[in-house]
Amino acid sequence: MNPIKLSRDIEERYRRYLKTTFYFKEPDLRASFEEALNSGYLSKGPYLEATSVFKRGQTPRKLFTHLLGSQPDDGFLKAIDGDRPLYRHQEQAIEGVLHEFNIIVTTGTGSGKTEAFLYPILLHLYREFQEGKLSPGVRALILYPMNALANDQRDRLGEISERLKKEQSSFRFTFGQYIGETPEDEKDSWRNARDHMVKRLPGELVLRSEMRKTPPHILLTNYSMLEYLLLRPDDSPLFDNGQARWWKFFVLDEAHQYRGSRGIEMAMLLRRLKQRLKEGGRFEPFRCIATSATLVGGEEGDKVAVAKFASDLFGEEFHKENVILGETDPIREGGSDSLSLDEYRFLGDVIREKKEETRGRVAELATKFGISFSQNEDLARIISELLQRDCRATNLRQLITSNPTEAAEIAAQIFAELQDNERLPALSELVELLLKVKDFVSNAPLLSARYHLFLRSIEGAFVSYWPQKKVLLDRRTQDSQGIAFEVALCRECGQHYFVGPKDFKEGKLVEAIRDPSHVGFGATFFRPIEGTVEEDDEDDGKATNNKQVFQLCVRCGEMGKSKPKCGHSSLIHVVRGESPKDEDRADQMAKCGACGYNAAGRDPVREVVHGSDGPHAVIATALYQTLPIGRKKVLAFADGRQEAAFFA
Ligand SMILES: [Zn+2]
Ligand SMILES: [Zn+2]
Repeated sequence: MNPIKLSRDIEERYRRYLKTTFYFKEPDLRASFEEALNSGYLSKGPYLEATSVFKRGQTPRKLFTHLLGSQPDDGFLKAIDGDRPLYRHQEQAIEGVLHEFNIIVTTGTGSGKTEAFLYPILLHLYREFQEGKLSPGVRALILYPMNALANDQRDRLGEISERLKKEQSSFRFTFGQYIGETPEDEKDSWRNARDHMVKRLPGELVLRSEMRKTPPHILLTNYSMLEYLLLRPDDSPLFDNGQARWWKFFVLDEAHQYRGSRGIEMAMLLRRLKQRLKEGGRFEPFRCIATSATLVGGEEGDKVAVAKFASDLFGEEFHKENVILGETDPIREGGSDSLSLDEYRFLGDVIREKKEETRGRVAELATKFGISFSQNEDLARIISELLQRDCRATNLRQLITSNPTEAAEIAAQIFAELQDNERLPALSELVELLLKVKDFVSNAPLLSARYHLFLRSIEGAFVSYWPQKKVLLDRRTQDSQGIAFEVALCRECGQHYFVGPKDFKEGKLVEAIRDPSHVGFGATFFRPIEGTVEEDDEDDGKATNNKQVFQLCVRCGEMGKSKPKCGHSSLIHVVRGESPKDEDRADQMAKCGACGYNAAGRDPVREVVHGSDGPHAVIATALYQTLPIGRKKVLAFADGRQEAAFFA
C-alpha cells in the first residue's frame, strides 16, 4: 500500500462523487465547477508525522520483584508482558505510586499511558491477593471524559484477565464499566442486557446489580454517572456497609480536559466522594493518578503549575517531582553520505526476500559507509546501522518526528536531486523501508510514521460574474471585486438558480435565512436569463410587465423590477421561480422553470451542499478496498450519534 497514491485516489473519488452529484446544465459553469474542485480546495496533505521513541527502563519482572520483595508468579508476569522493558515514564509512575506519591503522567500518544496507571493498581491488587485480602470491593476508580476512551481500557483489562487464566496464574481481579448504558439486571432489555452478557470479558461485571452485590476491584465510569451514584441510595453498596475502606486509587484519564468550569465541577465531585468514603470508614490516604497528553511542553517550570493544577483538582498533595514526563531518545546523528533511491530499493528487496546471496552488495555498501561487522553478522543489523549512518534517512527522521509536515514539502527537501514527479514516490519508498527496519538498541522501528489527509466538505457553490463568470466554492470572491451569488441546481436538468431571501422584492440580493426558527426562514429562487440587458432597453426605468422578471446587477447584486440605480452596466434578467403554497416548504421551489420537474411535491432544487454520509461512504470504501486482505480495518470517529449510527 502506498499512502501517497492512496491519498490521491481517495481525493479523486471524492471529487468524482461531487462532480456527479452536482450537475450544472450550463457547460461553462460545469467546467468552472470542475476547475474549482481541482484547485486544491478539497484536500490538504497528506502530512507525514513520526512518533518519538521513548526511553526504556527495567522489565516488570525486575521492578515488581523489587517492589514486592519477592518474585510474583510467572502467570501474572506473562499476563502483563513481564519481560518487555517498560518505558521509563511507566517505570517511574509505578515506583511513584508504590512509594505512596500522587502522580501525573504526561506523555505523547502511543507511549503506554494506560499501563502507567493500570500496573500500579494491578500490583496493589496482587499484593492484597498474596495477603489473602482481595475480597470484592472497589480499589480503584477510573474516570473518563468520554466513554469511547474507557472502551479501549476495558478491552485491555479483559485481555490481561484472559491471559491470567491462560497462563494459569491463581491471581484474578474484577472490573466493571458503570455508565448510562450499563443494564440494571439480566432482565433489562431496554439497555440490551442480553447483548452485554454475551460480550462479557473475562473478569468483567456487566450488570449494575452484580456490581452492587460484589463491587468490582476496578470501577470505570464518567463524571455524570459518578455524580448519580453518589445521589442514589440504591448504589450505596459501592461505598457503604464497610465497603468504603477498600477504596484507594482515583485515576483521571485525560486530565487536561478538566480545566475551567469543568475542572471546578470535577474537583467538587471528588471532594464529595472522598467525604462519603471517609464517613464510610476509609481512614488511610488516597492515591491519585492523572494522565494527560498535553498538560506540559516539557519544561521544568511548567511542572510546578501542573502539580498545582492536579492538587486543586484532586484536593490532594502533588509536588513537581510527581510530574512524570515521557523521555524520548534523540535520533542519532548520521554521517554526511547518502544512499541513492536505487540503493534504498535494493535494501527494501533484501529485507522483503531475505536472500543471502545479496550479502555481498550489502557488505559493499556498509564498507563504503565505514561500518565494520563480523563475517556472519545478521543482515538486518547491518542494514539498520547503514540507514542510521545515512544522511538522508537521518534528516527525514529528524524532520518529521513530532512535527507533521506536508509530504510534498518533505519530498522536495529530502529528494531534491530528483525530478518533481519522482520525489513523492521516492519518499514513500524510503518511509516504507524505515518502517521495516528496527533500531537494535531501542528495539523500535527507525520510523513510526503516520500519514494524515484532510478532506473538506462543500458548503455551497457561488457564481460570480466579475471579472469573469465562474463558480466559487467560497462565498467571498478571492478577487473581492464583484459579488457572488449562491446557486441551487435542479435535480433533474441541472439548471442553476440564484438563491435569495424569502419574499424578496428589491434591493441587494443577499443570502437566504436557513435557520428554521427565524421568522425570515425561507428562500426565493431566481433563474438567470443570459444575455445582458441593453442600456436603451424599452423597459428602461419602468417596471417590466411580467411581475416574475427582475433585473439584477451582477457587479454589485442590486436587483429590482425596474433598472437598479447603482449605475453599473452589468445587468441580466432573472425570473423568479414559483414558490410552493405550503408554508412548511418556505425554503423550496414548486417546480423547475427550465424543465418543469416538480419532484412530486418535494424540493426540485438543491444547494451545492452535501451531508456527511455520502463523502464518508466514498472515503471509507476507498480505504477499505485498498487494505490488504486479512487486514481490512477502518477506524472512524464521528462527533454525532447519527453519524456513528450510519457508520455502524
Ligand atoms: Zn430542471
Ligand atoms: Zn451594480
